[in-house]
Amino acid sequence: MKSDNDPIAMEARSDHSNNGQSLQTLVSGPLSSSLSSLSSSARTLPSNQEFHFFNNFDNFRLPFNQITKTSDSLLQFIGSSSKNWGPNNSINFPNNIGSIADDEAYRWLTDINDGILEQFDVSVDEFQKIREKEEETGRVAGSDPDNNGFQLVQGKKKKKGMEGGSSSSSSGVKGKMTTGKAKVPFHIPTIRKPQEEYNIRVNNSKQPFQHVWLQKSEDGLRFVHPMEKHSVMDFVDKDTVVVEPIKPSSIESTPFKLVEEVKDLKELAAKLRSVDELAVDLEHNHYRSFQGLTCLMQISTRTEDFIVDTLKLWIHIGPYLREIFKDLSKKKVMHGADRDILWLQRDFGIYLCNLFDTGQASRVLKLERNSLEHLLQHYCGVTANKEYQNIEWRLRPLTDGMLRYAREDTHYLLYICDLMRTRLLLMPKEPEHFDSPLVEVYKRSSDVCMQLYEKEQLMPNSYLHVYGLQGAGFNAEQLAIVAALFDWRDFVARVEDESTGYILPNKVLLEIAKQMPVTASKLRRLLNSKYPYVERDICLVVDTIKHSMQNAAAFEAAAQQVRMGRVQNVSEEQVAVNEGAEALPPETLTDSNRNHRC
Ligand code: AMP
Ligand code: ZN
Ligand code: MN
Repeated sequence: MKSDNDPIAMEARSDHSNNGQSLQTLVSGPLSSSLSSLSSSARTLPSNQEFHFFNNFDNFRLPFNQITKTSDSLLQFIGSSSKNWGPNNSINFPNNIGSIADDEAYRWLTDINDGILEQFDVSVDEFQKIREKEEETGRVAGSDPDNNGFQLVQGKKKKKGMEGGSSSSSSGVKGKMTTGKAKVPFHIPTIRKPQEEYNIRVNNSKQPFQHVWLQKSEDGLRFVHPMEKHSVMDFVDKDTVVVEPIKPSSIESTPFKLVEEVKDLKELAAKLRSVDELAVDLEHNHYRSFQGLTCLMQISTRTEDFIVDTLKLWIHIGPYLREIFKDLSKKKVMHGADRDILWLQRDFGIYLCNLFDTGQASRVLKLERNSLEHLLQHYCGVTANKEYQNIEWRLRPLTDGMLRYAREDTHYLLYICDLMRTRLLLMPKEPEHFDSPLVEVYKRSSDVCMQLYEKEQLMPNSYLHVYGLQGAGFNAEQLAIVAALFDWRDFVARVEDESTGYILPNKVLLEIAKQMPVTASKLRRLLNSKYPYVERDICLVVDTIKHSMQNAAAFEAAAQQVRMGRVQNVSEEQVAVNEGAEALPPETLTDSNRNHRC
């Protein structure tokens, strides 16, 4: 028994009353300095029997209990934070620290730590990728499915002089969006899917796309694009005289029509029948649909701008506009039309003839950059706000900013085409080109037109091409998981008409394979509640992981190939062994699989 006069006890009391106080001062400063002082002082804390001895004294016990309480509630808060782990995935700190085994708390801490570091890692990785892409392309990149519907984009607009003309600006999308950082939604999860809202039917089967509006070749083996029957020389402006470019009126003084009703579409078609040139552009969504969805069609004539709500008028677009787009006597001006051409075929059965692609013209003219943004700036002195490029185009009603941006994408195109045509005519023929520069542009544009939409075909070894798999150093078990999850993801994406990136991004798929979680809670911890279809099928996914691990022998050869970096050479024979992990048949997706507890 210790007496109050016991000198050893007195020394201990004074020592550890200081210890208690100094602990409290340690945790009261800024986080970084607190952390470093705490970690270096941790070694001086009494442990084991020594701790129990000092714990007999109020001067030690009281501040220590206070600190324990504070840190306990802090840890509890971190573990249950839905911000960190999602609303259903709290990882509560084991209660009652006094009575739990140290290693339980330790495991909890390392888990949490790993989770936070992982999230940080993912974010830094993504940030770097976006940065690299931006630097490569000079465009503000955006589709980040891991984001909660918002992405941070950096406005970096500099205004340059206009080539021979006065300067105007895109005031409608200026202001907040062009100065500094702005939050631009690229995904709004609460939007009702237009596929349901407007009854848009899509065919996501693995069968090849049928071009029902095209004739087949004589041998019946391929579809024939209408352009094939014509030569570029049939429609290239034969008149080589330089004509005066026609400058468009400002956006503000140009009549504008948002086409949302069939009667307006009919009126638009009638107007287009009477013009011989039109500028066209599309806006598209590829995140909430398997093959992609055309959300808007912008059309400008010399005097008017139109925006067609293609989601609302889906089945009417083809019947009203098909002939106009096919008409050889009407010049269609588009910028970088490669993807638009395919979207028009896929969604509306529209096949375009007589294209002048300003992107191709920019290449032939050897301009310093080939983006529309650059052409707008260079020829029209307009600073386009490309932050809109990849925003949530499914949103209705369209905001003023969206309308303004969408109009700007076609409003100046006919004028830009005039200017480019003049320069092409004045440009000496390049020795490496057989044709004059203008004809070269028409030929290139015609090649763009004649591409035919095809569905992406999956091969038995497609899973080996998941981005990031090379270099992941996976063993056969992990590779078996990649293959099985890849098939599950493809199946769900087709049925639900979602992108595979929305169902389960590659990075997360690979992380699951890496960690091989064999319980729903371990899997959930990895997902942060971000992937509703994985959550829906959580039991099935866990079973798939377990099953893949048991049947991994078939993946030994493939794993070796990947490790040796020889994926492109993986032969049919070797990947055939992976067929055990083929796509899950639909009947495996029963409601019992969808229970949250498995
Ligand atoms: P644009 O030809 O610039 O009007 O773009 C047409 C569509 O392509 C947009 O609606 C987007 O869906 C997509 N898109 C364009 N630029 C990007 C980008 N940098 N990242 C992702 N998608 C893009
Ligand atoms: Zn476009
Ligand atoms: Mn556009």
